[in-house]
Amino acid sequence: MFHQNITLPILIEKVNLSKVDLSEIFTQYNLCFNKILIITGKEHSYHIAKRLVKNNRNINFHVHNNCQNTLDEIEKLRLIVSSLKINLILGIGGGKVLDSAKLLSTKTKISYIAIPTLVTTDSLASPISIVNDGKNQKSFGASIPNGILLDYSILNKMTHYQTLSGIGDIISNQSALLDWDLAIEAGHEKPNNFARFLSEISISLINKYSDDFKNQKFIEDFIYAIITSGLAMNIAKSSRPCSGAEHLLAHAISELKLTDLSHGYVVGSLTDFCLYLHGKHYKNPQFSDAVINLLLDTSRFIQIIDLAKKIRGNRYTILNKFSNQELIDKLHKYIKNSNK
Ligand SMILES: [Zn+2]
Repeated sequence: MFHQNITLPILIEKVNLSKVDLSEIFTQYNLCFNKILIITGKEHSYHIAKRLVKNNRNINFHVHNNCQNTLDEIEKLRLIVSSLKINLILGIGGGKVLDSAKLLSTKTKISYIAIPTLVTTDSLASPISIVNDGKNQKSFGASIPNGILLDYSILNKMTHYQTLSGIGDIISNQSALLDWDLAIEAGHEKPNNFARFLSEISISLINKYSDDFKNQKFIEDFIYAIITSGLAMNIAKSSRPCSGAEHLLAHAISELKLTDLSHGYVVGSLTDFCLYLHGKHYKNPQFSDAVINLLLDTSRFIQIIDLAKKIRGNRYTILNKFSNQELIDKLHKYIKNSNK
């Protein structure tokens, strides 16, 4: 399912979107884009786009706002891209808008620059887009952005919960890498040292901070950690370096509709338990017990484990090492230890 050509972002720039001169940035990178399709959300990102259009009168823009993140919409946008001879897609917004812009770029083979307004998962530069196919949210292989523009006056306004969700999707790399090792050892998968290295860099970029999320250096390192995680998956041509048992459990919890908490928050909350299963420990006090408490009902926990093991049929993780009863016993011991 993963796109075969390895692309890398050739442009990552800090900008002030209220006065940025896009042509100047393009020229700096020897790029020439003059027909741009901007995809945005409903309000905040749409306002940013309108200002961008107003301040860059030398470029032809077509703005598609209120992005619905559906395959149908992407098909319609494909027609716009070809009829208007668009040569750059600019996504401004959060995960859904950027995933749609990423998939549209993949389908049309038109360059894509991402302008995130909030970052709550590691999807910004990952080779995967999650888009609604009319029935469900579905993962599609996608090529990663050719460029990323970062306006920290906007990103600094992310809430504590939003940032924590993004952090959750990065710290989960720790248990994901242990699961990958396990799968390699059991002969189920092959290693990829470069992808592993990038995933480790991503973890180390944020592990040096405790909880000072408003620190400017933290926000910048956090965004780089998110980008590096995406690149790790891009090199591995798989989510393996960033997704292990904690993601399988989180996907099962989401499929069973057990919580409204965000994807990143759920995987972040489960990471410490999955590390415990590996005999390791990482307690991030920022995550509440809300997700772990969902596992306390034994019959529900079994339902979650069974579904988690099926969700990516061939993904070998620490969950495969234990019977359901052993996992239940481990959970109780883990909770007892955490409350000491
Ligand atoms: Zn994730």
